[in-house]
Amino acid sequence: MALTSQIADRRPQIARRNAHVAVLALQGDFEAHRRQLAEIGISSFEVRRPGELADAAGLVIPGGESTTLWKFFEAEPWEEALGRFAESGRPVLGTCAGAIVLAREVTNPTQKGTGILDIAVERNAYGRQLDSFVGEVAAPDLGGSLPAVFIRAPRIRRVGPEVEVLATLDGEPVLVRQGNVLAATFHPELTRDTRVHEAAFAPLAVPEGSSSK
Ligand code: GLN
Repeated sequence: MALTSQIADRRPQIARRNAHVAVLALQGDFEAHRRQLAEIGISSFEVRRPGELADAAGLVIPGGESTTLWKFFEAEPWEEALGRFAESGRPVLGTCAGAIVLAREVTNPTQKGTGILDIAVERNAYGRQLDSFVGEVAAPDLGGSLPAVFIRAPRIRRVGPEVEVLATLDGEPVLVRQGNVLAATFHPELTRDTRVHEAAFAPLAVPEGSSSK
């Protein structure tokens, strides 16, 4: 398949520093994210306490249930730790519920957001018929269309002026970036396509042939 060979061809260039990316492992599909990171040569570790973020080179906030994530976030100083992490400029990727907790505004129902990303999201916004589905999203900057798994996904209803849209479904944003922070309303860890993780963690790449230090 063209896509597979395209990825395979690029793989040798992804020589990475031993970047240690934290994957939030409070709930949700964190193992699939770790597999995806390993696939692109990035080592990862699971974090369950805010203090464990200190040494991480990047962060993944997986999907799951944003209400459950907030229960954890309210029991410990997660909000502060996540805010500081994003402000430090290290790459952050939030997927589905992870995107919801990064958002500034959350509706259906109204829920707190960390406000790290200047977007408004509506939870579970595809309705019952389309509760979960696999689609192809348009991602011209990532090399064309991307397979995308949507599971009780939110819809991005507003993007702030600093937010760049990296992929769309029927013209609506589904993958966005604000500086070092990327958010997908779908689950890029559930396909073999690694381009979303590559886009998020590209800043950790070192050019081929340079020292790994
Ligand atoms: N529906 C979930 C929420 O609102 C998100 C679903 C997911 O992460 N797959 O938090």
